[in-house]
Amino acid sequence: MGTAEIRSAGRAREPLGSTLVNIDKTTRSVQAKGRIAVLTSGGDAQGMNAAVRAIVRGGLSQGVDVFIVHDGYHGLVKGGDQIRPATWNSVGGILHRGGTSIGTARSKSFTTRDGRRKAAFNLVSRGIDRLAVIGGDGSLTGIAIFGSEWPELLAELVDRGEITAEVAEAHPILHTIGLVGSIDNDLVGTDSTIGADSALHRITEAIDAITSTAASHQRTFVIEVMGRRCGYLAVRGGLAGAADWLLIPEDPPRDGWEERMIESLAAGRQAGRRDSIVVLAEGAIDRHGKPITAEHVRSVLEEDLGEDTRITVLGHVQRGGAPSAFDRYMSTILGFAAVDDLLSADSHDEPQIMGLRNNRITHLPLMNAINATRAANRALDEGDYAAALAARGGSFREALARHKILNGVEPDLSAGTRTSRPRRIAVLHAGGPAPGMNTAARAVTRFALDRGHHVIGVEDGFTGLIEGRMRDLGWMDVSGWGPSGGAKLGVTRRRLDGKDLYAIARSIEAHRIDALVVIGGWSAYEACARMWRERSSYPTFDIPIFAIPTTINNNLPGTDLSVGSDTALNSIVESIDRIKQSAVAAGRCFVVEVMGRHCGYLALMAALATGAERVFLPEEGITLAALEEELTKMKRSFKQGKRLELVIRSEGSSKVYTTDFMARLFEEEGGSLFSVRTAILGHLQQGGDPSPFDRMLATRFAWRVINELDQIADDDHQPACFVGVAAGQMGFTDFADFNRLVDIENQRPKTQWWLELRGINTALAHPPSIANPVSGKKVLVDHAVYHPNDQYHTQEET
Ligand code: ADP
Repeated sequence: MGTAEIRSAGRAREPLGSTLVNIDKTTRSVQAKGRIAVLTSGGDAQGMNAAVRAIVRGGLSQGVDVFIVHDGYHGLVKGGDQIRPATWNSVGGILHRGGTSIGTARSKSFTTRDGRRKAAFNLVSRGIDRLAVIGGDGSLTGIAIFGSEWPELLAELVDRGEITAEVAEAHPILHTIGLVGSIDNDLVGTDSTIGADSALHRITEAIDAITSTAASHQRTFVIEVMGRRCGYLAVRGGLAGAADWLLIPEDPPRDGWEERMIESLAAGRQAGRRDSIVVLAEGAIDRHGKPITAEHVRSVLEEDLGEDTRITVLGHVQRGGAPSAFDRYMSTILGFAAVDDLLSADSHDEPQIMGLRNNRITHLPLMNAINATRAANRALDEGDYAAALAARGGSFREALARHKILNGVEPDLSAGTRTSRPRRIAVLHAGGPAPGMNTAARAVTRFALDRGHHVIGVEDGFTGLIEGRMRDLGWMDVSGWGPSGGAKLGVTRRRLDGKDLYAIARSIEAHRIDALVVIGGWSAYEACARMWRERSSYPTFDIPIFAIPTTINNNLPGTDLSVGSDTALNSIVESIDRIKQSAVAAGRCFVVEVMGRHCGYLALMAALATGAERVFLPEEGITLAALEEELTKMKRSFKQGKRLELVIRSEGSSKVYTTDFMARLFEEEGGSLFSVRTAILGHLQQGGDPSPFDRMLATRFAWRVINELDQIADDDHQPACFVGVAAGQMGFTDFADFNRLVDIENQRPKTQWWLELRGINTALAHPPSIANPVSGKKVLVDHAVYHPNDQYHTQEET
């Protein structure tokens, strides 16, 4: 293992990865550096709007002209009114909407050279030589071809007398950047495409809803999800929704699968399951490449299992609805970074795409990603399923493996994964409630049982451990825990004192506990750190102690993300959407208070995901000067016709300048210009069923912990550590490092990766004022297109 690796993982994690994105917008001098156009193409995806908004406003905030191309490549070829200069307000009110508000269309003519020459004309005649495309692999292939042909296309336009040689010389290169918008996450190379997380939300909501009705009637459901070539949505959806059987293109079942499926579902019923859910990707096939249809699965289940079976085809529901919090902030960050990329002086040798990899923005050569994706598809066509699965990457394969264990009917002790050192593992929760605690407890229990360990569930956290309240957990005891919010084992927040430690030591001894898995937040970590420190006084504490981070606040060291924070963020974003909708009267400012204790993570990410004009964080505090500055901006905006302003305040930002104080100050100073309302979101943020992302994260942490536990020999140093994912790596940090990594007083890590995103919110919140190049007067870019003397040449597509 083990211990050495754990230690080195702990050291390797500081500093937390590379810079997420280089942001210093507030001091950037305003200087036109070229013209940018943005378009969305191919299938629509939730989050495209957030990316378009960030590209437009990010560009304007840097003082460059930005153009919106409507209806994808179709609009690019057609020109005319399809390509319009964007103002700050062109992209107002779109962040929370699904689909793409600038339109998308398939274009045959763009696939021809003639069409692309027209497109080149339409760009160069407007002085545009920087193009951002948000779309799937077809659209991105298109931009790669277009970019490589650009010099020839311009030469042709000069030959035809459509543009002058000077114009061609002024724009020798087309700078391009691609963002991947595709709900089924089928592009190899990025962790999540724009839209995939929202689609998973729709799938998980549907599976959860169907599970409840299926259980009432003891029915079986076959749920078909999107994914013609890629089983991503089926695997993640099946894992998050605890589906009993999964059928995907990359892992076609061997002959006789129908009987095995029947056997497994029948055994599930026998074991006490009230429902059976089969999730099927639309492109599922058998080993001979023959499509497996939902209807075939249904008839097998009805005839051979004798169960009333229903089919639900989710179809376009998966593309619909509001984008998830993740799709909003990820697309915002990517769009913002794309502008920097387009404007940077050095162009890339090859066209690039930008994506998120390991929670960090990365560039990838576009054609590499496309070729890898095509290789996976080719492998599928050729029936080389091992290669297709390999091409999907390690996290896909692991998710599939985890699904098979977790959603089996019983532990598979014959699989050769049986541990050589069975332990009695106690599992408990500690700290505040966080959605995903049950998911983690279920996953720890089942992964451990699958290896041959014994699992003991402790009730009510450390209090239950002190009082000896615990029970054995069997496979079916945790059935149904995966998708459910709350904490079935119970949870308490307790600071351990000397008497507690003594009682815990007795309890550990009495119940012969020889490993502890603590699932929780700050107080769980403090308690574990205390137990580690007291090992010399209490030798019974010298057992492996693992902590799994679950807290909505995301204020724990050793991890970029804790389980529960994504769910809380989605709750906040949904609430704010509603609050904004409630503002029918013009001139309304909302001050929304969100949780987080002394950590501003939820506040900042909510601000990015909802487009809040201002966010106040505990890390920065609140000053009177900051409030005055905000008031000035607010008054200016409302005077110019703005209808609504959103201010988010993290609960621990200031003891003096409370939410109520801020609201009253704004109300008083706003006079007749605007009125102010407050919303303190409170405990709804800690409730709800875990989001698909949190279910996945909880499961991954549990998997890693049980794997690690199996590596520890009795004569090894017994680790006391916390699991986490930071800068893309999942690993462990020793509790020995806990105090060094955290600001104890403020209960948060000393280094917080997400603070780097602060500048994006500032840059996108208010339009900068800039000097009109003609009049020299200062104008706001949202109320004037500041290139009034432009003559646009247009050419209509015939
Ligand atoms: P997606 O981008 O979602 O994969 P499509 O494959 O339909 O969607 O592609 C969208 C558009 O991108 C097409 O209508 C076409 O205009 C353009 N496109 C796709 N493939 C190419 C190509 N090989 N060359 C040029 N343009 C292409």
